[in-house]
Amino acid sequence: AKSAGGNRAELADPEADARAITRHGLTTALPAALERGEFFIEYQPLVHLGDGSVRGAEALVRWLHPQHGVLGPDRFIPLAEDTGLIVPLGRWVLEQSVRQAREWRERYGEQTPAGPLRINVNLSPCQLSHPGLVQDTVEILERTGVAPDALCLEVTESALIGADDDLLKPLRRLAEMGVDIALDDFGTGYSNLANLRRLPVSILKLDRSFTQSMQQFPADPVDLKIVEGIVSLAHSLDLSVTVEGVETGAQAEQLRILGCDTAQGWYYARPGPPERVHHLALADATN
Ligand code: C2E
Ligand code: CA
Ligand code: CA
Ligand code: CA
Repeated sequence: AKSAGGNRAELADPEADARAITRHGLTTALPAALERGEFFIEYQPLVHLGDGSVRGAEALVRWLHPQHGVLGPDRFIPLAEDTGLIVPLGRWVLEQSVRQAREWRERYGEQTPAGPLRINVNLSPCQLSHPGLVQDTVEILERTGVAPDALCLEVTESALIGADDDLLKPLRRLAEMGVDIALDDFGTGYSNLANLRRLPVSILKLDRSFTQSMQQFPADPVDLKIVEGIVSLAHSLDLSVTVEGVETGAQAEQLRILGCDTAQGWYYARPGPPERVHHLALADATN
């Protein structure tokens, strides 16, 4: 809405206006959405490349907006980060996801051949610098009775580039308790590889762009070398390597040959309801 006499140039782009209104509308609707329970979580299986077994899942948050339908995290996580709502929202995601992991482990822990299922949860940089992170996580694990080693927190490479000790301290505390820390979107942030030794991470999640380059046959030889190099460096540092965005069997096979440990992507399953994860995990057992 422009006031009368506003300049023409502003009026000329009604679409940008609509986007701005939506953005503003979404931002102001976020707190009530959390209270009304409009968020939900989809789970995407994590599959061991060596034997095809389901080892756990990544939690991915969605917003069931009363007018706009289901919104993906790219639409609202940045807004939640700008307004600080990401802290309570992230805490909610963590609690729900850990509760889901408890259900999987209590009901199917004995039957899943590769051991009890684990849960991966994304942490935004704002949560990382929030002083309550360690205490909130400990409380959620205690309240639910889930072992710390069932949980993996995913932090993007870019969030940790140039991170000082104050930022790393909470992650170190969590890692000491047995929580896994994964470096998400690895390979996009140009971080110093030697820097990896300083970070309390145990898993590298190779960015989807590498997986995409395995789509062509033969794959780009330079990309093959890069992935091979990252995997061998990771393994020499005792880190395991997860690849995301695996959409074809050919990609999975190539990445397995290159030594990657775990895979995630539409080839195995799209993000979906929690039942799908344990169905897939249990199906393993009958193979
Ligand atoms: P991410 O952590 O890199 O998550 C992987 C994204 O790739 C997800 O998008 C997933 O649906 C998508 N994906 C999975 N398999 C495939 C595939 O085979 N092909 C393709 N093309 N895409 C695939 P999604 O769910 O839209 O999430 C986007 C981003 O939003 C996530 O990227 C993560 O950074 C963020 N996010 C999601 N949930 C949360 C959350 O609870 N907290 C925070 N802070 N961020 C979240
Ligand atoms: Ca992630
Ligand atoms: Ca990622
Ligand atoms: Ca990503």
